[in-house]
Amino acid sequence: MDQIYVPDPLKSETDAWLKGLLVRSEGWVGNFSRHCDDPSTFKIEIEFFESDDFDAYAAVEGGVDVIRISLGLVFILRDLFDRILSHPDTLTFLGGTALENDRTNYPADQKSIDLAAAMQRGRIYKPKDASRVALADYLFSCAFDFVLSHELFHLFFGHVDYLKLKTGFHVLSELNPIISGLTNLDRHTLERDADRNAVFNTMARVVGDYRGQYGSSITMHSRRRFSASVLLLMPLPFLPSAR
Ligand SMILES: [Zn+2]
Repeated sequence: MDQIYVPDPLKSETDAWLKGLLVRSEGWVGNFSRHCDDPSTFKIEIEFFESDDFDAYAAVEGGVDVIRISLGLVFILRDLFDRILSHPDTLTFLGGTALENDRTNYPADQKSIDLAAAMQRGRIYKPKDASRVALADYLFSCAFDFVLSHELFHLFFGHVDYLKLKTGFHVLSELNPIISGLTNLDRHTLERDADRNAVFNTMARVVGDYRGQYGSSITMHSRRRFSASVLLLMPLPFLPSAR
């Protein structure tokens, strides 16, 4: 069992950022209570756990719905969009790429990162151009919300209850799935169901933000930013957490 991570906002900037991410996530998931017959009973606990794997799971523990996301997942996602947008050769139509530095390519086979080092170094590949920083932050939040909603739908649509019924286990893990009691078709169906709804949620957010932010004064920059967002978020269902 991985250690639950409790951020101390007074300790470091990274802890404060993680604490803010948790608070935001609770509010975001809390919005789903309006879809329940009795919103007063809707309660999902969200926690980070200390692992440098790209991992997440949904569980029912002691009658409480729980979503746990690894710190590795958080930092790998943040690093990914920072690297893409801090490279001067990618998406050159966005912001001022002259400020960005050329450097090594992104290692595509990277599975995990050194967590302690990652937390200390902060964002080593953070873009320099303000609009590219803003887009990296935005894309991180969209990708993170995709994982969050994927886990939420595992709970919301009764996938964890189904797992418990079939196998006796109450933890639906992305990285270490239960290998007995569920058929491959069961597993595939649950993951596709969670992915389908999470993709819809994420893309609906992107479209909604675009319309909300730019309304009738849509500029070339906003149009390009929107296109880049959709393009970069397309591979989301293929993230390791959504197999
Ligand atoms: Zn899943």
